[in-house]
Amino acid sequence: MSPATDATRPASILLVEDDEELRTSLAASLSGRYRVEAVGDGMSALRRWSAARPDIIILDLGLPDLDGLSVISRVRAEATTPILVLTARDREGDKVEALERGADDYVTKPFGMGELRARLGALLRRAMGPAAGADGVVRVGPLSLDVAHHSVTVEGIPVRLTPREFEVLKVLVSHAGRIVTHGRLLRAVWGTPYGDEAHYLHVYVSAIRRKLAAADPAGRLGMIIVSEPGVGYRVSALEPGEDDASPG
Ligand code: CA
Repeated sequence: MSPATDATRPASILLVEDDEELRTSLAASLSGRYRVEAVGDGMSALRRWSAARPDIIILDLGLPDLDGLSVISRVRAEATTPILVLTARDREGDKVEALERGADDYVTKPFGMGELRARLGALLRRAMGPAAGADGVVRVGPLSLDVAHHSVTVEGIPVRLTPREFEVLKVLVSHAGRIVTHGRLLRAVWGTPYGDEAHYLHVYVSAIRRKLAAADPAGRLGMIIVSEPGVGYRVSALEPGEDDASPG
């Protein structure tokens, strides 16, 4: 699926973390599989970002000089490079703002390497190709969403969604593997006036889940839209490689 040109070249990570112990251990455990460059402050992050254009950025929000949030804004002004945010529990409120500014996902400290690797893998896969194939159809596992014809099928079986349900699912599926905040989803489907009314989404998402589950004989698709409480929703990729636990 991804272009063969870079297949043998490991993806590059810019790791931004001011806690030296964590930075060193993360860099060590990721470097078997990725090319990792690690820095400890925001200005260095922006310098290395400009010079090296990494494939993905792992960004601690609490940095000694620049706020991580302003690093996100600076990067997003120029590029769609995936950004995975590391948040400490006492800065949980920042994660929504980080996502709103364009971060793609987050993990909360303390986290396991398995979780971090799974999130990294999902973000990199998304970054490798466009959301829709050349035929204008977005596929996630057995689910196909035809953007031009406003139709959804599960292994060829049609799923009858209302126009609003279709729009909600389209936004989520086109960001598969990444979190879409309640605010972003509401603005994308309803426009700005409904920005605070996350309960609308709950109703629509519940209906979509029910219809997908009913269409899928294997029963997997009811789970495809994952709630991130207080934050938003994420379509999980449902691919066998998702939990990819590489040794070491
Ligand atoms: Ca920090």
